[in-house]
Amino acid sequence: MAESAASSRIEMLMQAMTLEEKLGQLTMRTAHFAVTGPDARAVPLADIRAGRVGSLINLVGAEETREAQRVALDETRLGIPLFFAFDVVHGHRTIFPVPLGEAAAFNPVLWEQTARCAAEEAAEDGLHLTFAPSLDVCRDPRWGRIVEGPGEDPYLAGRFARAKVKGFQTAELDAPGAVAATAKHFAGYGAVTAGRDYAQVDISERAFRETYAPPFHEAVEAGVAAIMPAFTDLSAIPLTANVAVLRDLLRGKWGFDGVIISDYTAIAELQRHGVARDIVEAAALALRAGVDIDLMADAYLNGLPAALQSGRVTMAEIDASVRRVLELKARLGLFERPPRGHLPAASPATRKARRDLAREAARRAIVLLTNQDEFLPLQQPLRRIALVGPLADAPEEMIGPWCAAGETGRSVGLREGLSSALPAAEIEAAQGVPVEGGGAGGVVAAVELAHWADVVVLFLGESRAMSGEAASRAHPDLPGHQEDLARAVLAAGKPTILVLASGRPLILPGWLVDEARAVLATWFLGNEAGHAIADVLTGAYNPSGRLPVSWPVDVGQIPIFFGARPTGRPADQREHYTSKYLDMPVEPLFPFGHGHSYTKFSLTDLRLTPAKMRAGDRVTVTVDVANEGKMAGDATIFLFIRDRVASVSRPLLELRNFSQVSLAAGAKHNVEFTLVIEDVTFLDARLEPRFESGIIDVAVGLSAAQGTLLRRELDVVEGSAVAEVSEEKMGGLNSYIKNNQIDSGINIDLLKRKRKEELRRDFAWRRTAVDVRTGHDYHIEVSQFLILSGGGAVTVLITLDQGQVLYVGAIFIFGIGIAASMAATIAARRGINRWAMYWESIALDDEKEEIKFRFHGAVYMSRLSMYLFIGAVAILSVAAAMVGIDLLLPLLTNKHS
Ligand code: BGC
Repeated sequence: MAESAASSRIEMLMQAMTLEEKLGQLTMRTAHFAVTGPDARAVPLADIRAGRVGSLINLVGAEETREAQRVALDETRLGIPLFFAFDVVHGHRTIFPVPLGEAAAFNPVLWEQTARCAAEEAAEDGLHLTFAPSLDVCRDPRWGRIVEGPGEDPYLAGRFARAKVKGFQTAELDAPGAVAATAKHFAGYGAVTAGRDYAQVDISERAFRETYAPPFHEAVEAGVAAIMPAFTDLSAIPLTANVAVLRDLLRGKWGFDGVIISDYTAIAELQRHGVARDIVEAAALALRAGVDIDLMADAYLNGLPAALQSGRVTMAEIDASVRRVLELKARLGLFERPPRGHLPAASPATRKARRDLAREAARRAIVLLTNQDEFLPLQQPLRRIALVGPLADAPEEMIGPWCAAGETGRSVGLREGLSSALPAAEIEAAQGVPVEGGGAGGVVAAVELAHWADVVVLFLGESRAMSGEAASRAHPDLPGHQEDLARAVLAAGKPTILVLASGRPLILPGWLVDEARAVLATWFLGNEAGHAIADVLTGAYNPSGRLPVSWPVDVGQIPIFFGARPTGRPADQREHYTSKYLDMPVEPLFPFGHGHSYTKFSLTDLRLTPAKMRAGDRVTVTVDVANEGKMAGDATIFLFIRDRVASVSRPLLELRNFSQVSLAAGAKHNVEFTLVIEDVTFLDARLEPRFESGIIDVAVGLSAAQGTLLRRELDVVEGSAVAEVSEEKMGGLNSYIKNNQIDSGINIDLLKRKRKEELRRDFAWRRTAVDVRTGHDYHIEVSQFLILSGGGAVTVLITLDQGQVLYVGAIFIFGIGIAASMAATIAARRGINRWAMYWESIALDDEKEEIKFRFHGAVYMSRLSMYLFIGAVAILSVAAAMVGIDLLLPLLTNKHS
């Protein structure tokens, strides 16, 4: 439906709806396909008929959703369609690794592909919206929901956010196979006190803004359709009622105009938080904070009428939320006739491709934590393998905590995976002990099996129910009698590989890590777990996963993360009064980014070009990576910065980028990153973004382990409050590229025709500036047109943030004005600081059909000669450009700050 038709439909509905119908649109109810919270019920058909439900969670299946939609369309007064939501977190039917595991792949392309696949499967089941991605940065493995997010680092989480939103939503929400994404749980949930789920969150505003909120900002920038506030409070104000976070920051500063959906019964829980006396007050608080949809509390239906009557909320506030919900429905294509239905079922070939993707994602998620004396990959031929442990043959456990509509029956456990990888080997399994509880009665049989075998694969860890929501663990270690089993099996003296499944880094006994010949973290890998682990054990796949979280030695180190700030007394074992423990190291067992490969990568020759940065500069960071081993493999290279001295203390390392390269044995490659001023911009003492002059260490490495990083100094030089972040010379052809809607590539024919006339004579220049005080982006575009017949024009266009036009100016000049307009553009381009004249032209290489920008030369002139040269008209033009750029901008900046 065209946009205008959709908006008039929405306006018509807004006029026609009763208050109850409006509140119905703001109400999401559950059905019974899955239980994701208290009070799962059958499809609430009577309420749908009465217009008291606007959307459903937990109804899955083409038939089921079609029937509910039919009722909404045909049996309600206004025929407003429902939308169907579900927790498609790490796959829908095909289950991929849990998010923490997928994060270990450090591969945004993969992250997008798995979300795309999950979205298609969800759409085949009639779904329109997923409650994913979870973007909770977490540094505390006691919290069970660490499994749902991408780990400890905000930059990593931001990249994850972008990839997931793009993968779920595609470019248009009504595209076949697209589903709306929901970034959750906004924000700070990962910092629950002592890792206990739903507990209070008390973090500084700096921590909130630097660590926990940024991934959500990335999701908003990527166009995420919905946001879910966290269950918790944030420094005493529950997020479901948090005006500062939802209304001021999310909607106000970030400009989020999608829907905010409460978490499950979270609006009613405002009473238990102790900020609302009754459901009326709870509903009013949530609505006023900007929560549009009430998931399962029925607080809006039951509370808002009274809140409206008593003046606690206004009709305008209710209407604004209803409009946003209807707009989402329009974007989803639900107002089409017939409304968007389910996607047709996939072909067998597509289903096979999805399983292949699941296997690829699973093997990329595996982190090889240790590999003593390069014990792995397993050396062939192997005759007897003992598979020992409660997870050795437990395909359904591989699915992890959010199984969506996943078919647990289609999962591959390690026994099956290893048997198909090594058909000639004899593989026997013994559970030994259950995951949790139970006795150690099976240990004897397991030890006997170990004696029989050439090699033992010990598969230990958590069950899938031991992580996820409401699954915090005060001791996130090997549960039950698993340590006893490990000790007994190791005593058999056979080479033993430890494979771990868990939703978090587990606290491991030192002897186990030391005595196992290799240790693998496999998280919960999804349907293809068994195949993927076998691929890594046999060397069919060279492990490439890297830890997205620091792996603690012990619970006492938690929270532990690489981005800590320095202290006045950094740890020093020789000095008593320093920041350390008496009974354990301060370093993690394995640092962020850690992970072995079957080959060896080296980094050399880190260089910065240039080594000085002002606002507007782009610094290229280059490092050589070599594969020095005998096997092809993927290396992940991390780019960090360290701001040594600033007006506020900055973390010891801040991740700014990462890159993965595939290298054949013996191959070398240089990896390039770009740093811009935003990368060294931080929140100052007043929490305002700024950058300061000084030395920044640029550090590059294969993990965050401090001693292993290559470092170079970057000299940052402070500029004005309005910082340029990029400058683009567009040359004459850009206007054509733009007019013809060619985003990339160049229309050679068009240029051939045009170049004789205008092309060599017009050019444009665009500067993107950020006001470091307000964070607003400005785009300033100056275009100059010189017309062969002797005329000229300068146009100035200034836009704010996402396209809001602030200023358009044009000066038309004839005759001598050619020179004048040119000077004006030049002046603007140089920021009026320096006078210069440039000639540039575009050359077309007919043979290669390539466009080249050719720089012809620059003449620098004294101010005086420039004045003489351009004359009176030129001054006029220069003044105009000055108004456009350097006078007008500060005015606008103030206006918007
Ligand atoms: C969880 C959310 C989830 C919702 C709906 C809640 O309990 O916190 O992550 O999306 O249930 O199932």
